[in-house]
Amino acid sequence: MKQVKRAAHSGHIPPTDPLVSCIVCSTPSELGIHIGDQFICQRCEAEMVLTDVTDEKYPFFIKQMKKIWLKENA
Ligand SMILES: [Zn+2]
Repeated sequence: MKQVKRAAHSGHIPPTDPLVSCIVCSTPSELGIHIGDQFICQRCEAEMVLTDVTDEKYPFFIKQMKKIWLKENA
């Protein structure tokens, strides 16, 4: 009798990634984009795409994005 140690159980278990917090809205989410080690949730990503440069929110998004770029260059 052989005992084989297997971590995986029968069936398909998707890897459970810990939820990461969005750098824009700070809300943990599993849907979104990763830039470097930063994360932007799908909602904010969509909002950023739709945000016009004249929108008052735009500078905020740019500010948050700069944080990523600064980290990447560090
Ligand atoms: Zn977000």
